[in-house]
Amino acid sequence: MIAKHDVLVVGAGCAGMRAAIEAFDAGADVAMISKIHPTRSHSGAAEGGINAALGNASEDNPEIHAYDTVKGSDYLGDQDAIEILCEEAPADVYQLENWGAVFSRTEDGRIAQRPFGAAGAPRTAYAADITGHVLVQVLWEQVCKRDIPTYEEYFAWQLVENDGRCQGVVCWDLLEGGLKTIGAKTVILATGGAGRLYTGTTNAYSCTGDGMSMALRAGLGLKDMEMMQFHPTTLAPTGVLITEGCRGEGAFLLNKDGERFLKRYAPNTMELASRDVISRAEQMEIDAGRGVDGNVLLDLRHLGAERIIERLPGSRELAMTFLGVDPIYDPIPVRPGAHYHMGGVATDVWGQTELTGLYAAGECACVSVHGANRLGGNALMETITFGKRAGSHAAEWALSHTTVDVPDSVERDAERDLTALLERTDGERPWSIRDELASSMHENFGVFRRERQMEQQGKVVAGLRDRYQRVVVEDKGEVFNTDLTQAIELDFLLDLAECMVVAGIERKESRGAHARPDDYPVRDDENFLQHTIVHLVDGSPQLSWEPVRMTKWQPQERKY
Ligand SMILES: Cc1cc2nc3c(=O)[nH]c(=O)nc-3n(C[C@H](O)[C@H](O)[C@H](O)COP(=O)(O)OP(=O)(O)OC[C@H]3O[C@@H](n4cnc5c(N)ncnc54)[C@H](O)[C@@H]3O)c2cc1C
Repeated sequence: MIAKHDVLVVGAGCAGMRAAIEAFDAGADVAMISKIHPTRSHSGAAEGGINAALGNASEDNPEIHAYDTVKGSDYLGDQDAIEILCEEAPADVYQLENWGAVFSRTEDGRIAQRPFGAAGAPRTAYAADITGHVLVQVLWEQVCKRDIPTYEEYFAWQLVENDGRCQGVVCWDLLEGGLKTIGAKTVILATGGAGRLYTGTTNAYSCTGDGMSMALRAGLGLKDMEMMQFHPTTLAPTGVLITEGCRGEGAFLLNKDGERFLKRYAPNTMELASRDVISRAEQMEIDAGRGVDGNVLLDLRHLGAERIIERLPGSRELAMTFLGVDPIYDPIPVRPGAHYHMGGVATDVWGQTELTGLYAAGECACVSVHGANRLGGNALMETITFGKRAGSHAAEWALSHTTVDVPDSVERDAERDLTALLERTDGERPWSIRDELASSMHENFGVFRRERQMEQQGKVVAGLRDRYQRVVVEDKGEVFNTDLTQAIELDFLLDLAECMVVAGIERKESRGAHARPDDYPVRDDENFLQHTIVHLVDGSPQLSWEPVRMTKWQPQERKY
């Protein structure tokens, strides 16, 4: 063990940094681990904004925000957690502002708010279309101001469980090489999403679900893993995101005939329906031959050059760089792409998991505020509000407990696993397995789910897992061995794919992101108003169910 801390945060995106700041301010000795430099975390790619019922653009309050979120979740969100998110969001956003977040402004100088999908009021606070970048910089400044140490370019690999508690993390030191174990009274997982399970994802290369898989292997349950959100406006073939903010500002979605096709799917809200509804509508248009080379068209031209340049400069630049299309003059071809994992490590409203001393927050956690479908702008808010809460609880727990103990056997076992992986010379390279995993997930577990395809995907993943047993890491070196970390990331991704397929097959209904048009086209509250929970039992995923925590909203038919 190279060091010990009260609170060790794994991940330094918005959730991890916010958690670390809160734990520090509560008096704990806190440190962060990050496999990449903190400001390069995927949070920095968030464009459109962060939701809080500030009421700056129209009448709004936390209760309406909560209702929109419950409905948006297709009633799978846990309502106690949703109420907390919406109540605490306004103060949390003003705190970010006080720390220096330069939000875009109204004429009279208040924080501006734009409309986002399925929101009853313009509620999304934004900094042009680089909101995540701004938040990450502001949080990093606060981390630096407090001198919170960061183990940068440390790759967390295994959780240390000892005496029924999580007491640290075994890491690979990317810069110097070698396994390094850091002990801690409490560990907060804030490792982000797993979009890299798919080809055509908006997610950064670092989004490989590491924390979810580490928790699974430590015996914890992953919740609602079948719920992968597809964002309606991504560029082919890269998956680069064009923000929902474009539609918030008034952009149209058109098919090849120039028709605003959403009038047939979401006549009341049109382009501002929820993401699951729009992604399905687009896919149906494309499948019916009304797309343009596998895309539909996002038309911003009527907004005018001035507004596009002022409000959506980043989106314009992305379209020009990646497609050579200037949205001032031409519509942008877009299609649904894998974007956000509503599922993750099951936690309570303080980020606590089933294992004492282990917490999770941000996209790797499932508390669950997004249920079966997340509303745009709610993820950033979740990282802040629940990052803060996890940091606070973890610090409190750590300050009232004293010991940290990591048995030597933990490090010995990890060393043995690593040697076995590195010493193998004959077998397959990881990238071919990774590419097949991502393309088959896209094909068989995408916007629409079909029993036959999900079963097929179960077999594909089992075959890939088999091949992974003989995977070869060619780089045997100590310094910046990304060949090694990518092989481990693939191992994590395979775990998650298995969980998703198991949960997806058993959810025999259509709810939010889980759409089964052929066999179970409607929501079935009688049987499936429940969360899926997957545990590893003797190495294989086992499914169980858990009730949704309801407070005051009963399920209704969901129309936009
Ligand atoms: C392109 C894009 C645009 C988005 N736009 C919006 C938006 O406008 N509004 C909104 O609300 N949401 C948006 N989202 C979603 C939202 O940004 C993310 O859900 C959120 O930022 C995730 O934050 P996080 O802190 O949980 O994880 P991340 O920001 O992904 O950070 C994960 C951290 O974990 C670390 N890590 C991971 N694995 C390991 C490991 N094994 N060892 C050590 N460290 C590790 C990484 O280094 C990183 O620091 C967007 C997402 C994308 C992809």
